[in-house]
Amino acid sequence: MDYKQLKNDFQTPFYIYDFDKIKERFLNLKDAFKARKSQIFYAVKANSNLSLLQMFAHLDSGFDCVSIGEVKRALKAGAKPYKIIFSGVGKTKEELKLALKYDILYINLESEAEMMLLENVAKELALKARISIRVNPNVDAKTHPYISTGLNENKFGVEIDLARKMYLYAKNSSFLDPVGVHFHIGSQLLDLTPIHEAAKIVAQLTRELKALQIDLKFFDIGGGLGVVYEKQECEPNLYDYAQGILAQLKGLDLTIGMEPGRYLVAQSGEFVCCVLYEKYNKTKRFVVVDGAMNDLIRPSLYEAYHEIVLPYNQGEESKCDIVGGICESGDFFAKARFLPKTQSGDIMIVKNAGAYGFSMSSNYNTRNKVCELALEDGKVRLIRQRESFEDQIALEEKFLRN
Ligand SMILES: *Cc1c(COP(=O)(O)O)cnc(C)c1O
Repeated sequence: MDYKQLKNDFQTPFYIYDFDKIKERFLNLKDAFKARKSQIFYAVKANSNLSLLQMFAHLDSGFDCVSIGEVKRALKAGAKPYKIIFSGVGKTKEELKLALKYDILYINLESEAEMMLLENVAKELALKARISIRVNPNVDAKTHPYISTGLNENKFGVEIDLARKMYLYAKNSSFLDPVGVHFHIGSQLLDLTPIHEAAKIVAQLTRELKALQIDLKFFDIGGGLGVVYEKQECEPNLYDYAQGILAQLKGLDLTIGMEPGRYLVAQSGEFVCCVLYEKYNKTKRFVVVDGAMNDLIRPSLYEAYHEIVLPYNQGEESKCDIVGGICESGDFFAKARFLPKTQSGDIMIVKNAGAYGFSMSSNYNTRNKVCELALEDGKVRLIRQRESFEDQIALEEKFLRN
């Protein structure tokens, strides 16, 4: 890739995503489950760029949304309502109402209170709401505590006994139609055992429900499949992943739903920025760049590791911290990394930044959100314009007093 040309054409910082690589990963994942009916629901929050969603829609992907805004994004990108599902612990009444009006495939419920609210909303609209219940199987996903979601101590889902009770209630309601079961135990899973363990627990519940004439259609295994960020890590094998799930579903006629986010997009994205300064505080070396934690917050938030390369620099390497210009000591991309000497304007690439990069970005310090580019069929194109100062203040300016 000619990063110098890209810098010339678009300025830095920017994100660039390799759409062809994303397609390949999507098709590989789909293929691993070919022994069964399956549907991938791409987890929109990982990277919600409209052009990316449009590309997924063309692949016949479904969409897993966690806000009505994400549902609207999916629809805008050309998704069919029956390929959209809606998850999340804090859906509002207004969001539930719209989800029903859009007639999406199903709503993943995360509490009894939410079910009661949805029943009321469905009644008001004289509709029957298709639901799935997110079960918290109480297994340890062995990932970072901030992205672990399958333990009773986490806010997500309902315990299995309550789920059973909720299914029985839903079955007898004129406004609820239980069509699926769901679990999602955490993100960046590199060990498959916890997810297979969870599948076993939830498959058992599905059998019990079947015996009670609650015949579900979707077995939604969530997302969470991890990727390699650090060289010593090892990506889970897709066929092992699939086989371990399929093995739990013997005798059950279910469509497998998957909600991968990170797995599909993380490694196909790069955050490209430029060096502004090098500085030394006593003996400690800092490389200050034009990107910052508002653009890519994973290192600050989870102490996440991202590989960093300087494509055009050579020479002896020494230890440094790579930091942004934001007024927070937590504003860094990497600590104690070995890099060659740099100069102002040198291009730096933060690798594996396609997931939870731009979608978690903010305007902190009144910084404009960066632009996004796509690489597809050997060509680069702009898929989100760089924000301007005027864009940022548009919703405030009109309230200024004369
Ligand atoms: C975040 C999330 C996902 C996607 O997780 P990844 O780790 O990116 O695959 C899937 N399902 C639900 C319910 C989520 O909250």
